[in-house]
Amino acid sequence: DANAKQKVRSDERSKAAFEKAKQLIPGGVNSPVRAFKSVGLTPVYVDRAAGSRVYDIDGNSYIDYVLSWGPLIMGHAHPEVVEALKRTAERGTSFGAPTELETTMAELVVERMPSVDIVRMVNSGTEATMSALRLARGYTKRQKILKFEGSYHGHADSLLIKAGSGVATLGLPDSPGVPESVAAHTITVPYNDLESVKIAFERFGEEIACVIVEPIAGNMGVVPPLPGFLTGLREVTNRYGSLLIFDEVMTGFRVHYNSAQGLYGVTPDLTCMGKVIGGGLPVGAYGGKREIMEMMAPSGPIYQAGTLSGNPLAMAAGYTTLKLLTPEVYEKLERLAVRLHQGLEQNARKYGIPCTINRVGSMVCPFFTDTHVINYDTAKQADLDQFKAVFASLLNQGISIAPSQFEGLFVSAVHTEEDIDQTIAAHELALSRL
Ligand code: PLP
Repeated sequence: DANAKQKVRSDERSKAAFEKAKQLIPGGVNSPVRAFKSVGLTPVYVDRAAGSRVYDIDGNSYIDYVLSWGPLIMGHAHPEVVEALKRTAERGTSFGAPTELETTMAELVVERMPSVDIVRMVNSGTEATMSALRLARGYTKRQKILKFEGSYHGHADSLLIKAGSGVATLGLPDSPGVPESVAAHTITVPYNDLESVKIAFERFGEEIACVIVEPIAGNMGVVPPLPGFLTGLREVTNRYGSLLIFDEVMTGFRVHYNSAQGLYGVTPDLTCMGKVIGGGLPVGAYGGKREIMEMMAPSGPIYQAGTLSGNPLAMAAGYTTLKLLTPEVYEKLERLAVRLHQGLEQNARKYGIPCTINRVGSMVCPFFTDTHVINYDTAKQADLDQFKAVFASLLNQGISIAPSQFEGLFVSAVHTEEDIDQTIAAHELALSRL
């Protein structure tokens, strides 16, 4: 029966591991959201993972929709990725000298990412956005940037302003340590609000180096662009000689074979990548128009570098993952995600729980509100207590989702229909108890 099914998970080992970690690592974690603060629980300490499953050190298993916060679109420890890593590691893990693999990888990215003529590899999404901003400022010789409220673009000073995700969850609208003089150059307006963008440009247009935007917002939950929003940004930036930067760290290679820019048919000047491009290893990248990218050292005067950039292991994992991502895989992802979307929607209807589900491809986000979620303000109308309760119930039933209402669920190509159906059943039980 339902009571028996929702047995309480053992978590003694995770609790002990977290206590020890807190003595040695700030807050016990190397990235804040992992601490489970917003859901008031002890983080699950992972032992290992394979396919769609994660196993913790207490012996529990979970169907995983976090997927390392997006990268593992082919599931955990995909055999071909693991094999590529082994083969590569045996030949040396880092050289600080160029390898042909970096060019092979660049060729694949250029082929798949419509806006990218030429691309530079870095080690994280943060590095990608930080470097793209420097490039935009250096290229345009302007200082201001425009970003959207609730968008997270990594933790660079200029971008940690009205950011979503971990920052939203922790309730830190800004971070101490970001100089006011830096923040003063960042203009923020609501997502999907082209009118506000136009007003900002009327006022500061000649000073704005770039607009940086998640073409599908993924750090205030999932918020797709309204029709005309991205094309509107393209027009405004063109008119004022500003660059348009798509932050496709989350959406790149996830939502479409040609990423969000392929899906919506809008071509930015620069694109930032991360997550999927590394196949689970630390990778970021930024690329775009040749003329702009050639401003980077050593071909141009704008500096950016990295001891481990283009690392062979990272390139091997990323390349193998991208190669696995055929158009058929995106069709499968869509089918699985639609199944999940419909199941969650039916459950909400059955129990009369206010719910809006936003989804693009394999990014799925059920908000506990019946408001149409189009920006950060509407996302914040979601009932966080309901989220917390459902999160805890799902975890107890062996389903792992991100510990925040302001993150979507990611489906992988190795989730099965049974995984999805089991998830829908667990969600139903969770809703029945609200
Ligand atoms: N940009 C977006 C859209 C992201 O979602 C993230 C991470 O969640 C980043 C940038 C930062 O990437 P990283 O965590 O690899 O530094």
